[in-house]
Amino acid sequence: MADTRRAFLRIGAGGAIASVLGFDLQPAYAQSKELKIARTTETRSTCPYCSVSCGVIIHTLGDKAKNVTPQVVHVEGDPDHPINRGTLCPKGSSLMQDILNERRLLKPQVRRPGSDHWEDIGWDQAIDEIARRIKKTRDETFIERDAQGRTVNRCEGIAWNGGCTDTNEFNYLVVKSMRSLGVCYLENQARV
Ligand code: SF4
Repeated sequence: MADTRRAFLRIGAGGAIASVLGFDLQPAYAQSKELKIARTTETRSTCPYCSVSCGVIIHTLGDKAKNVTPQVVHVEGDPDHPINRGTLCPKGSSLMQDILNERRLLKPQVRRPGSDHWEDIGWDQAIDEIARRIKKTRDETFIERDAQGRTVNRCEGIAWNGGCTDTNEFNYLVVKSMRSLGVCYLENQARV
């Protein structure tokens, strides 16, 4: 608090002196504000926290070389997004802490039946296990005809629930692939 107050007084005193001397400090203030994101790459995305699905801009630094991992330096609301028009709630405003959090899960995990803990598994193993379970569940729960003998060809043992960051293209593929399995219970978290 003391530091903030001291800094405020210092800037205030400096600004007053500059003003007395006839300098216009506005361009300098504007430039110092711009510097933080002046050389960043802007990537448009969607806040993943709730179904409002606010648009965000993620600013990353990096020269785009193959061996360089871009560093996220700033996240803000997208002023061109029709849902939030640049605003973010406090949770969405803290999105950068989620992206850079050292506890963020980067690998698939599985909790086996009867186990009391989650274990890391590889992506290939996860995809293989998911595919096997989908096949098994579909084979066991597929219904060709309903009680009146009408052809229905539906799978009632599987449901799909998507997230609000899923794109239109991804959702198109989800619906096509799930319908091809006969899945009729499809939902998505987003309410946009
Ligand atoms: S910024 Fe807030 S209101 Fe918007 S999607 Fe994220 S959590 Fe929801």
